[in-house]
Amino acid sequence: MSELEEFRAEARSWLEDNCPEQMRESLATEDEHVWGGRRWQFSSDAQCVWFERMVEKRWTAPAWPVEYGGAGLSPAENDVLGRELKRINARSPVSNFGFWMLGPALLKFGTEEQKREHLPAIARGEIRWCQGYSEPNAGSDLASLKTSAELDGDQFVVNGRKIWTSYADRADKMFCLVRTDPEAKKQAGISFILLDMDSEGVSTQPIQLISGESPFCETFFDDVRVPRGHLVGELNQGWTIAKYLLTHERDNIGGEPPGLLKGRDLGQMALEAVGADAQGHLDDPLLRADIARLEIDAMAFRALVEQTRAKAEAGEGVGARSAMLKYYGTELNKRRYNLMMDAMGGLGLEWDSERTGGGRYAREWLRSKGNSIEGGTSEIMLGIISSAVLELPKG
Ligand SMILES: Cc1cc2nc3c(=O)[nH]c(=O)nc-3n(C[C@H](O)[C@H](O)[C@H](O)COP(=O)(O)OP(=O)(O)OC[C@H]3O[C@@H](n4cnc5c(N)ncnc54)[C@H](O)[C@@H]3O)c2cc1C
Repeated sequence: MSELEEFRAEARSWLEDNCPEQMRESLATEDEHVWGGRRWQFSSDAQCVWFERMVEKRWTAPAWPVEYGGAGLSPAENDVLGRELKRINARSPVSNFGFWMLGPALLKFGTEEQKREHLPAIARGEIRWCQGYSEPNAGSDLASLKTSAELDGDQFVVNGRKIWTSYADRADKMFCLVRTDPEAKKQAGISFILLDMDSEGVSTQPIQLISGESPFCETFFDDVRVPRGHLVGELNQGWTIAKYLLTHERDNIGGEPPGLLKGRDLGQMALEAVGADAQGHLDDPLLRADIARLEIDAMAFRALVEQTRAKAEAGEGVGARSAMLKYYGTELNKRRYNLMMDAMGGLGLEWDSERTGGGRYAREWLRSKGNSIEGGTSEIMLGIISSAVLELPKG
């Protein structure tokens, strides 16, 4: 048996013994997602057991180096572990912006001290991070951001306002883009800092969405003091880190749909909702053709994702190709949710009914619309693909 096959057998057997049955079922509601952090409360024993076992095994951030809280798995082992987790439909034991975004950025740009302070705490699920990028007039044009950080001795004094900060009211810390040189060309005057959400002068205001939920906030900074040591990278060089982090965010958002449709077969859901014809096929030929087209596109997309990640692991990084994954993955997810709503008919539109778990279909369908906005809109992704991937001349 090759070493990799041995690893697969060991991982399979460990997961069999350690992943509780309840953690092998798709999330019943998004509230069951484990975000971790100082204030986190588990909603079931199984959730807590799964989290603790995976933290102890260091498989919450399996590919990170051992000295930074990971298990030090090779790319091939990490891939095998991912497939084994998927095979048993295991839920993520914990995940948040620290894993998807800040971790990779710190591994590349952080000082040794920053890596040792923050990465193990992320891997153990102790700290929940939020992302302070967007501002009221700096979304797609992110480099126009105005939140300022002026140096006063060995501290920055931060003033300004962020918007659409997901879960700012529940996060422990924020990675934040600030303007440290107002005179420089806009990209050149930005720095990347880390701050504690409990710092004096930080406040948040939840924003309510069309789905009825408030997953994000406005965040205000009023003379917030941040130690200079919380600067990542060089002063005024934060734009490079910001862009690198975005490639990880985009790669992640373009992945499998979260929530209701995660790990579920849309064809089967439609069959249950619409019924079968005499041959046992979905009794709606148009919907059947649309679902078939979607599944074929999804298969091709999965092949692209695997190819892109394999190249990334071989050292090329995902880079601008993350815009392709983000664009196509999120447009695909929106199509998937639209088809789900077509299949569900009137039931899908029920808002507060018990039959739909409190309007889950409609609420998640609406939430899916945000997919092609967060992390950069589809229009912006198409612009990046045209210039940085296809290298087309600018129009
Ligand atoms: C669910 C969700 C979660 C989010 N979470 C966070 C978070 O945690 N932290 C954070 O910092 N931000 C977050 N955001 C904000 C997100 O990054 C911004 O909404 C996004 O970058 C778009 O910016 P904007 O809303 O200001 O829209 P605008 O930039 O004003 O864009 C408006 C429209 O104009 C189009 N447009 C703009 N410029 C161009 C151009 N050059 N070419 C073609 N079309 C263009 C856009 O595509 C869009 O359709 C989140 C957003 C959503 C929806």
